[in-house]
Amino acid sequence: MVKETGYYDLLGVKPGATLDEIKRAYRRLALKYHPDKNPSEGERFKQISQAYEVLSDTQKRALYDRGGERAMKEGGTGGRGGFGSPMDIFNMFFGGGVRMPGRPERRGKTVVHPLSVTLEDLYNGTTRKLSLQKNVICGKCNGCGVREGVDSRCPKCHGTGMEFHVHQLGPSMIQQIQTMCSQCQGQGEWVRPLDRCLTCNGRRVVREKKILNVHLDRGMQDGQRITFHEEGDQVPGLEPGDVVIVLDQKEHPVFQRIGNNLVLRKEISLVDALCGFRQVVRTLDNRPLLVSSQLGDVIRPGSVKCVPNEGMPVYRNPAQKGRLIIHFQVRFPEPGWLSPDRLHQLRTFFPPQEEVMATEDMQEVELNDYFSQPGHWWQPHAGEAYHEDDFEEASRPHVQCHTS
Ligand SMILES: [Zn+2]
Ligand SMILES: [Zn+2]
Repeated sequence: MVKETGYYDLLGVKPGATLDEIKRAYRRLALKYHPDKNPSEGERFKQISQAYEVLSDTQKRALYDRGGERAMKEGGTGGRGGFGSPMDIFNMFFGGGVRMPGRPERRGKTVVHPLSVTLEDLYNGTTRKLSLQKNVICGKCNGCGVREGVDSRCPKCHGTGMEFHVHQLGPSMIQQIQTMCSQCQGQGEWVRPLDRCLTCNGRRVVREKKILNVHLDRGMQDGQRITFHEEGDQVPGLEPGDVVIVLDQKEHPVFQRIGNNLVLRKEISLVDALCGFRQVVRTLDNRPLLVSSQLGDVIRPGSVKCVPNEGMPVYRNPAQKGRLIIHFQVRFPEPGWLSPDRLHQLRTFFPPQEEVMATEDMQEVELNDYFSQPGHWWQPHAGEAYHEDDFEEASRPHVQCHTS
């Protein structure tokens, strides 16, 4: 029995959600609210990552389900109170790698940045410039943080980081106590503020703007990662970490991508459906394709056809493409579209209709429009929004698409 649903609500999932659903929800929201893209939504970004941190961990999730947020705050998470930094969680999720606790780090952190791309970008390939701020080792002091010629050793402990105190305990008894140097906090290095490097103010690194050229190859996918080795923040004494770019594809108004296939919803008129049609489809590289049905072919509402080799280019093999799948909707005429005498004429083109004579024992009933009420057990199939998986399932076995 779940006590609170706040974290689930933040991610937009049900309390019974699987780990996979939680990950998918986090992925979508974290990309959307990442400070690179939405600088004003910092608080939201933080909340999403906290919710994810709890719900993705079996133990923490169980604790939260039992006692809500209060139980989380009171600890019980194994001594490690509080939450991780939202950026660390994001970086880790998108392949920043997991740090082994207690092991000395030899590399700086990997930083992940989302990059919004269009389906056209992924179809045609392009180069995008991404401007980043990063720490680089100060060139003036070479990362030591002090002015040239200044000895940075702590004058109090002579660079050992330790202090020794001698206590006279009695006439012939002394005690020597070793403590951490109070001047340099055990670092062994200390300089007067005046002696700090003027360029980096003693921080050893400076902020610098860096432009990365991100090459998008044809056929790359939403969520694909592009790694720039050692382009992360520089830290004295460590190898710099990587910068990872995660592609975040914006929804396309016309096409939906499923794997290497492109799905297009096409509305045709009833006369198109019955008598054959010609339509122009603009590809993502703006070529007009003439799509037509054979005379005498009937397109049923919801039927699916495909054009071979007009889908997305295959990544690293762009000469080959997936299929363009066309999902047909048929636009029926409005009531009263034809006068009664023309309707009689129209009838003659169709096979004879079933004739039913009204007899005495029949009760004539009204046929009304149906509107589903909230909570009603039956809802007509919306037909508008369909799930990707449904579509793949439906299109796979039935669509015959011959490549000649
Ligand atoms: Zn010292
Ligand atoms: Zn410096």
